[in-house]
Amino acid sequence: MSNSPLVKHTKLSPNNSGRRTHGIDRITIHCVVGHMSLQGLGDWFAKTSTQESSNYGIDDSGQVGMFVEEGNRSWCSSSKANDQRAVTIETASDKTAPYKVTDAALAGLIDLCTDICRRNGKTKLIWFGDKAKTLAYEPKANEMVMTVHQWFKNKSCPGAYLLGKHEYIAAEVNRRLGSAADGTALTGKAQIPAEKLAAFLLSKNSAPKLNGVDTGQLAQLYISEGEAEGIRGDLAFCQSCLETGYWQFKGDVKPSQNNFSGIGATGNGAAGASFPDARTGIRAQIQHLKAYASKDALKNPCVDPRYNLVTKGCAPTVEELSGRWAADKGYAEKILSVYKEAASFKDGTVAKFPYLVKVTADALNVRSGPGTSYKVNMTIRDQGTYTIVEEKNGWGRLESGAGWISLKYTQRK
Ligand SMILES: [Zn+2]
Repeated sequence: MSNSPLVKHTKLSPNNSGRRTHGIDRITIHCVVGHMSLQGLGDWFAKTSTQESSNYGIDDSGQVGMFVEEGNRSWCSSSKANDQRAVTIETASDKTAPYKVTDAALAGLIDLCTDICRRNGKTKLIWFGDKAKTLAYEPKANEMVMTVHQWFKNKSCPGAYLLGKHEYIAAEVNRRLGSAADGTALTGKAQIPAEKLAAFLLSKNSAPKLNGVDTGQLAQLYISEGEAEGIRGDLAFCQSCLETGYWQFKGDVKPSQNNFSGIGATGNGAAGASFPDARTGIRAQIQHLKAYASKDALKNPCVDPRYNLVTKGCAPTVEELSGRWAADKGYAEKILSVYKEAASFKDGTVAKFPYLVKVTADALNVRSGPGTSYKVNMTIRDQGTYTIVEEKNGWGRLESGAGWISLKYTQRK
């Protein structure tokens, strides 16, 4: 649990229930009913007699204050259940309906909501605008849902003005999170664990050319370096599978460079950047991805030699990397295709060679290559058991050297 780095004023209120008992998956925006300063709001919540608080507050200039740490339950929405899971925000507003807030306060709200989503691993902020639907909804791991005070108590909070802005706030936050166009946001938490990424790599290349790390450590570095910068390390790993040809290094970059994403390898034999070890190379790649994905500053010292060349936040999604990270218009699609395969990879069920199959067809052609366009070498008519040593496009190569058979007409033993 972390607090927002946007906070400019902190005055912790005694009016809270300590640690939350539910993970954060809601945001509840309130109106203060008054153009209170952060200091004024903090002093008000500091009194035990107030019996109210909020995690954050926003003043007329859009500045953020913190009164209850994000990991703790504030007393804000007249609902224990809601406050247990919601980050609550009080926004300075007019004293009378529709309780308008300043444009700066609205902008500050959008910044803060974006930050809360990012730090909590959410790639989507949802506003249904419907109480029953919202309260019945179980958000997915990457989703944050907006609720309003008036659903829990007979009052107008957050007021007609802010209520009318909820859809806009969600849309703007989602645009920044990169999920607006149903794209795959580069920011957020990895969804494929390191062990699975490592097993997936080994299924593609049983002898990846690594330097000083094994596949497990390599995959773990993607996850931890990604987490450090709020970037999805699993996506970066899949990008590297593509760039290195599953660590075969058949292109211009050599394994000893620890450059797994082609940074500076611009074609025509340009070898690109070199890094002292795998961790630094992966850190540079994550930082380079962050430069594309977000306007946020780096957490670690910059090791990416091309960080400053990127227009920050120009490509929040994988889809937008095509024509940017690489000239190839199909670049993103290739990364996502690796990702899809990795995500559905089940260790142990993918072919480990050699393995045995029983032929189920009466007559099965053995061809010189993996496909019907290759010439027929012979025909198997005994429905016998054969050993497969390689797979391609649903075809298996026979250990005997006789050729390839379509695996559709076989049963694995
Ligand atoms: Zn309220």
